[in-house]
Amino acid sequence: MKERLYLFDTTLRDGAQTNGVDFTLADKVAIAQMLDAFGLDYVEGGYPGANPTDTQLFAQPRKLDARFTAFGMTRRPGRSLSNDPGIAALLEAEADAICFVAKAWDYHVRVALETTPEENLASIRDSVRAAKARGREVLVDCEHFFDGYKASGDYALACARAAYEEGARWVVLCDTNGGTLPHEVEAIVGEVAKKIPGGHIGIHAHNDTEQAVANSLAAVRAGARQIQGTINGLGERCGNANLVSIIPTLKLKPEFAEKFEIGISDAKLRNLAHLSHALDEMLNRAPDRHAPYVGTSAFATKAGIHASAIVKEPATYEHVDPETVGNRRRLLVSDQSGRSNLLAELERIGIAVEKEDPRLVRLLDEVKEREALGYAYEAADASFELLARRTLGAVPDYFNVERFDVNVEQRYNAVGKRVTVSMAVVKVKVGNETLISAAEGDGPVHALDLALRKDLGKYQQYIEGLELSDYRVRILNAGTEAVTRVLIESQDETGERWTTVGVSSNIIDASFQALMDSIVYKLVRSGAPA
Ligand SMILES: [Zn+2]
Repeated sequence: MKERLYLFDTTLRDGAQTNGVDFTLADKVAIAQMLDAFGLDYVEGGYPGANPTDTQLFAQPRKLDARFTAFGMTRRPGRSLSNDPGIAALLEAEADAICFVAKAWDYHVRVALETTPEENLASIRDSVRAAKARGREVLVDCEHFFDGYKASGDYALACARAAYEEGARWVVLCDTNGGTLPHEVEAIVGEVAKKIPGGHIGIHAHNDTEQAVANSLAAVRAGARQIQGTINGLGERCGNANLVSIIPTLKLKPEFAEKFEIGISDAKLRNLAHLSHALDEMLNRAPDRHAPYVGTSAFATKAGIHASAIVKEPATYEHVDPETVGNRRRLLVSDQSGRSNLLAELERIGIAVEKEDPRLVRLLDEVKEREALGYAYEAADASFELLARRTLGAVPDYFNVERFDVNVEQRYNAVGKRVTVSMAVVKVKVGNETLISAAEGDGPVHALDLALRKDLGKYQQYIEGLELSDYRVRILNAGTEAVTRVLIESQDETGERWTTVGVSSNIIDASFQALMDSIVYKLVRSGAPA
């Protein structure tokens, strides 16, 4: 019999504290559904009563399997429950569970709450009792627990025990400042577990020494059975424990997988990369390429000698099978690569070619030559695929840009403000048809992108869902010899993302190449007829 571990997601509450993240009501509803569909046990929605978005969120009808949790403070010191509007709003909210945040460090009780240690304990007990009386499952986040425990262990424990003895389902030990190290977490949770059964202990770790994941796992080793965290490690400062790393570790590493089970099935685990990227997309953030398990580089191998071993026996260079988390193996085609990389990559993208085909040598030479000029094919998978298909003679000439013109103009607008705008005009030949499109944009590349995609005649239907999602520029070499490399990431209506590259001494030309590759790639992928 495996023991059950519970996962508590606080992306919508603690994750909302991330610098630059601002969830709308619609975002929160959509994210709650994504988290629920993925199989998380608890989804914390926010602070009803404390801000209008969260109050509305809890008022919305919803159908979730996860326990939808409201977060708020314990009763204010020196007030009665009936005289505390914060508690009233929290108890009123339509929630399955209430997570109270309580002080557990006597120093904070004195300085921040300006009350006595006894009154703080009474506030914890009263709050738990009131929420239980309303039929809610109760969690108590013991704030600054680890720092408090080091400063005054008896008091920190007294806070945790007050919550537990009053009937809180979970007593959550928080590393609020995020500075505690894994061996300390393991030792302290082990001590707490002597007084409170581990099946009632949770861990809430912040990532200020980049060990929130390690701290969460250390707490589980010491007896904790609930882990709180966020998707992609969102959260203020350096973030919260990243559930996207914790979940596959619990599922795939024998030390945890043999002892514990979680609410996420193997089939759901294969949606992990998608979940991670979908959240980034909603927040308009570029996914972290180097993210463990789900990043595009997480299973990418560059050197030729490793690549030939990987093709023979993937386990030689991979700690888990990438498909279990919805990722895939990438063998990077680069100046270090050999024929085995190239063959494996061609096979993956579905191009059949004989091992001895002389065109392979030509393609390899071409890749090396272009990389020497500054093209970065290992970052630009779509441009690589097009180069391969072209060398092997399989990309139609869908259309031809006969000329384009881009200008940049600075002027006063109608209200007397100085603005810089760009306009692009593109002349395209599609079959026997000549099309001229013009577009205005914030900058020259934006204008060019809009004009290029405005009217492609019979191909327009295939590129309707295409959008530019990231644009990166690098200047290579120094001084007057400088060339510009542009990497463009695009996405379409299905959520597929691809990257293309352009290199030129002129930034507009480099951008044009990358934009063209992106459009042609989309046409190839959509099976547009020649
Ligand atoms: Zn927190």
